[in-house]
Amino acid sequence: MKEISFCPYCSAPSHKLLNYHEDMVFCRDCNTFFRLNLVELKCPKCEHTKIEDSDFPSPDGQVILQCKHCKKMFTAKDLIEK
Ligand SMILES: [Zn+2]
Ligand SMILES: [Zn+2]
Repeated sequence: MKEISFCPYCSAPSHKLLNYHEDMVFCRDCNTFFRLNLVELKCPKCEHTKIEDSDFPSPDGQVILQCKHCKKMFTAKDLIEK
């Protein structure tokens, strides 16, 4: 299974995600199926793909991710929508 650390739709953590078949993943939190290759993470600023979970929780409870290259931080949702 490829690395995915959160649901792109509701930001549920990885233990809520089920690898269903090949690259299909099912989120038990929002009951959504999605494909792993849809969520290839890219920094919206520098386009680097080294994105990691930062340890900072956001005020609204979203997962905060950080680009290892330019150190920019953004939410999982920001990333998917761009
Ligand atoms: Zn979800
Ligand atoms: Zn970056």
